[in-house]
Amino acid sequence: MADIRLEGVGHSYDGGRTWAVKPMTWTWHSSRAYALLGPSGCGKTTLLNIISGLITPSVGQIFFDDREVTGVPTAGRNIAQVFQFPVLYEEMSVYDNLAFPLRNRKVPKQEIDRRVRQVSELLGLDHLLRRRSRRLDAGRQQIVSLGRGLVRAEVAAVLLDEPLTVVDPALKWTLRSKLKEIHRDTGHTLIYVTHDQTEALTFADEVVVLNDGAIVQAGEPAELFLSPAHEFVGHFIGSPGMNVVPAEVVGGVVRVGQSDVGAVTNELPPGPVRIGVRPEFVRITEARTSPGVAAKVTGIDRMGAYDLVHTLVGEHPVIAKTEAGTSYQPDTVEFLHFPADRTFLFRDEVRCGAL
Ligand code: ATP
Repeated sequence: MADIRLEGVGHSYDGGRTWAVKPMTWTWHSSRAYALLGPSGCGKTTLLNIISGLITPSVGQIFFDDREVTGVPTAGRNIAQVFQFPVLYEEMSVYDNLAFPLRNRKVPKQEIDRRVRQVSELLGLDHLLRRRSRRLDAGRQQIVSLGRGLVRAEVAAVLLDEPLTVVDPALKWTLRSKLKEIHRDTGHTLIYVTHDQTEALTFADEVVVLNDGAIVQAGEPAELFLSPAHEFVGHFIGSPGMNVVPAEVVGGVVRVGQSDVGAVTNELPPGPVRIGVRPEFVRITEARTSPGVAAKVTGIDRMGAYDLVHTLVGEHPVIAKTEAGTSYQPDTVEFLHFPADRTFLFRDEVRCGAL
């Protein structure tokens, strides 16, 4: 296990015209489970391949603890990598596929058997060990591929690139908690690439959010949810994502149109801002007293466990997540309250203050 340190690491596929990964300095700490989360095309796979050595970065240096590995090929980095599409020896049995990385490294036979049985039991593959890989469905093949990445105990890091895409959704929940169990057991440094926030939030000690080739925020799941440092994080995490309403700071007070919605808690120069508040925290109040703002109800989604009340503040949509079975009606005017300490202010998409 090692700290993986990136010093000014970036990668361009077109000679520096555009950056798939913008030069970054960042450390992945030993034994932590990370999710690398971001939308399609934001640079997740490129970053993972830089760490594993499949790609040599255009700029910067990579260190595993104090050892520089920038020019070291994958085989010399002691990394286990699992790809989105299973890479298996189709004619081999599940057992032999799982044992392969260990036999390759001349691990004693007994130890191989112990590890293969341990991993296969955890991943629910124990009854399939004799089956040829090509006779498994795509989901099971992906699980075998995952198992092969996890079978070695002494790797510097395990890198997983969307390892559960074709697995049945119900099984995914089980496998993620198994993966957590395996991680607790082995203490691998684990980096799990996904564009799915549920996958990231349920699995990781720390979620690293990547957008447009740059890390915009990293933290524990609750921190990203409760305290987004960037508008992108507010939108990308949460379902539905954070509401954003243009506003103005005037004399320490935040105004939406003519309405005063709260006081700024920090020294913030006057001027335009964007208010960010999650649907979970928007309160619809009876009392039409300041601070707050009038909003027209445009529709209600009855989700069973909760209601989503859609409103317009001026021309800006704001959703409130309320208890189920509310009696709000479309085309009526309600009053919204944005609670202090759950409402943030953004300038140029970056958080600059709070109510
Ligand atoms: P996805 O979730 O869709 O796999 P990603 O977040 O993993 O996306 P990358 O695959 O790393 O993103 O791609 C980042 C950017 O680099 C994208 O704009 C992509 O088109 C570009 N890119 C990726 N691989 C290559 C390549 N071999 N040649 C040129 N451009 C590439």
